Amino acid sequence: MITRIKYNPKEIEGKWQKLWEAEEMYHAPDNSPKPKFYNLVMLPYPSGNLHMGHWYNFAPADAYGRFIRMQGYNVMQPMGFDAFGLPAENAAISHGVQARTWTLANINTMRKQLRMMGAQWDWQREIISCMPDYYKWTQWLFLQFYKQGLAYRTKAPANWCPGCNTTLANEQVLPNGTCERCGSVVIRKEIDQWLLKITDYAEELLNFSKIDWPEKTMTMQRNWIGRSEGAEIRFFAEIDGRREEIPVFTTRPDTIYGVTFFVLAPEHPWVEKITTPEHKAEVEAYVDQARHMTEIERMSTEKEKTGVFTGGYVTNPVNGEQVPVWIADYVLMGYGAGAIMGVPGHDQRDFEFARKFGISIREVIRPEDEEPSDPDTWTEAKEHLGVMVNSGPFDGTPADEAIDKVTRYLEEKGIGKFMVTYRLRDWLISRQRYWGAPIPIVYCPTDGTVPVPEEQLPVWLPEHVEFKPTGESPLRYEPEFLNTTCPICGGPATRETDTMDTFMDSSWYFLRYADPHNDKQPWSAEAMKRWLPVDQYIGGAEHAVMHLLYARFFIKALRDMGHLEFDEPFIRLYHQGIVLGPDGQKMSKSRGNVVAPDEYVEKYGADTVRGYMMFMGPFDQGGVFKADNLEGVWRFLNRFWSVINDNWVEGKVDRTETSESKAIERLRNKTIKRVTEDLGNFHFNTALAALMECNNALIKQQNEPVARSAAFRQTLETMMQLLAPMAPHITEELWHLTGHTGSIHLTAWPSYDEALTHDEIFTLVVQVNGKVRERFEVPAGISENEVRKLALYNPRVASFIGDATVQKVIYIPGRLVNIVVRNG
Ligand SMILES: [Zn+2]
Ligand SMILES: [Zn+2]
Repeated sequence: MITRIKYNPKEIEGKWQKLWEAEEMYHAPDNSPKPKFYNLVMLPYPSGNLHMGHWYNFAPADAYGRFIRMQGYNVMQPMGFDAFGLPAENAAISHGVQARTWTLANINTMRKQLRMMGAQWDWQREIISCMPDYYKWTQWLFLQFYKQGLAYRTKAPANWCPGCNTTLANEQVLPNGTCERCGSVVIRKEIDQWLLKITDYAEELLNFSKIDWPEKTMTMQRNWIGRSEGAEIRFFAEIDGRREEIPVFTTRPDTIYGVTFFVLAPEHPWVEKITTPEHKAEVEAYVDQARHMTEIERMSTEKEKTGVFTGGYVTNPVNGEQVPVWIADYVLMGYGAGAIMGVPGHDQRDFEFARKFGISIREVIRPEDEEPSDPDTWTEAKEHLGVMVNSGPFDGTPADEAIDKVTRYLEEKGIGKFMVTYRLRDWLISRQRYWGAPIPIVYCPTDGTVPVPEEQLPVWLPEHVEFKPTGESPLRYEPEFLNTTCPICGGPATRETDTMDTFMDSSWYFLRYADPHNDKQPWSAEAMKRWLPVDQYIGGAEHAVMHLLYARFFIKALRDMGHLEFDEPFIRLYHQGIVLGPDGQKMSKSRGNVVAPDEYVEKYGADTVRGYMMFMGPFDQGGVFKADNLEGVWRFLNRFWSVINDNWVEGKVDRTETSESKAIERLRNKTIKRVTEDLGNFHFNTALAALMECNNALIKQQNEPVARSAAFRQTLETMMQLLAPMAPHITEELWHLTGHTGSIHLTAWPSYDEALTHDEIFTLVVQVNGKVRERFEVPAGISENEVRKLALYNPRVASFIGDATVQKVIYIPGRLVNIVVRNG
């Protein structure tokens, strides 16, 4: 027995962390003969505090990476910081500290906290997105998109937050139309902005065939892209004596004969042209009012429909009918063509609009088994498919042919065509903010918009700036930044002062990890071939749409430009759940229910906190943080520590096989199988449960002779290895205490014999007075009491005993039972 030492995580964790780092144990070499595995967690924002949410994402992710590594892979598990963005700038504004200073100080704190976790981060690959050696390449990427026509500048209405004095992406506007950061009501404002043409990739982004992602995430991306098939139909009108066409998109061309009105978005360029003088005042007032509403308000299905008649008419191209033109705020410029044909009989929004304004409703679609009915008696639109009625030459066309037939007709007549539209819009990357990568564009009075030549990158972001209360980017007030010379004519020019959305930085960081120190290129072709794509990506489900969609877009666009040779960034994706505060609510500063991991690491050690994160419940479901439950994991680790310490036999072990030692060997194999399968499926909680059960079984037998058997000792050894990914420090310490040399984390994952993972059974022979009367199978570990019962109450055996008196039952374990009876 080795000397008894108390489990003291404080002493051992720091020691091993230093040693692992000194030995570069977790650096993934570029020239390993082993197969690669790229295990990635989402790039954290350097808020300055590693919170429970980070631990819950990173600790199990690390256990997974360690598990893969012990299976013989060259695992790359990098870490870095998504270091640009608003909070640093807000800190600069409110505390007067420079954004860079604040950010780098936070990164220092977080690095320490990340080291405390004892994860296998490959620190040699660290990237920090706000450093010039990184953002230089973000700017380079922007230029590639620009060259390709995938980055463009246009005046576009933007969500504008008066509180933050900045534009917001749609996703940053809450459903109630307020700013996600400060709660101010978001308004619309027209400004010059840079966008990336993600819409060019809408169709390919709908294809998920090369990735293994959660169904829910793929569905969210599909909905976000919002593909719909239908037809473009061109209505027309006489304007200033000329025939002008106005296209609309509809998913239901089969309802074209049901059009009784036409609606333009208030911003539609036709509004001015088509409004008659009598309606001008009313229309202008309505347009002005709509300008002050958010898109979300306008699209709300709860909101009562409003609108005004323009006095103008358009012609329905299929039947020549004159259709009155209205404007209404529920039609948006950004979607479709900013105009719709009103079919109140078969579209609910149009139905509500028609009812409110007394516009007639027509039935043109009817289910086969339905009688004709008066639309004036309807309480809602009939949106389902059906047979075409009141539709001229199309009357009687069945539901399954209607859309195709009308679309073909439109194409033949040259008044419309088949069309696919997407809800997805181009990605607004301009931020009127300081703390981001400057957009590498120069404006010259002579040459206009000029991209900065690649050899002049990076466009340096000034490190010290002054914030003025105007809310404008301080870059506008930095003459050294703003004023430059034109790369074409050499004359005076000014720089673009918008910086890039931080989602630009996070759309490619996983490429840079593969080649972090390359100062000639953002990455080399060899590095891409070696490490990409990411094999396993682990992060929050809140990124289902933006980050994960933008990164996919980047990869596809860069592939088409010839910079990459793969199609998808992340092959497998896993979303962990959310850790809630002790009150069962989402942790937030305002609720005061934020639990800091550091105090628990201080009290119990990182292994217990790691273990607790994993034992909380299924990894994808999160859970409520309960400090008491840390005790449970702490006790397990202490028992585990004692079992190894108390039972590790130095020198000789007993190699004799007994039924007890065979049972231990079965337990060992069963435990390997369970833990292997569970870790491979992110079922950390059940993997730990299997180890706890195994540990308890060993404790029960530690005072028996079997505790000195080879099987027992091997089980102790196996348990250390199985626990190593989840609790890396305690297992490393025990591994060395038990005389092993080299790191436990460099050992090969234990394998198991499938045959030994099933419960052993044997055939029990039942004799009555020495004669074999019955045989049946029973489990190996069965007790004598159980055997007696099974034998005596077996119907066949009972028939041989009859009325005789049972005198004796003799049991030879593992073989037979003899029932001695006497008649009379
Ligand atoms: Zn705001
Ligand atoms: Zn110029």
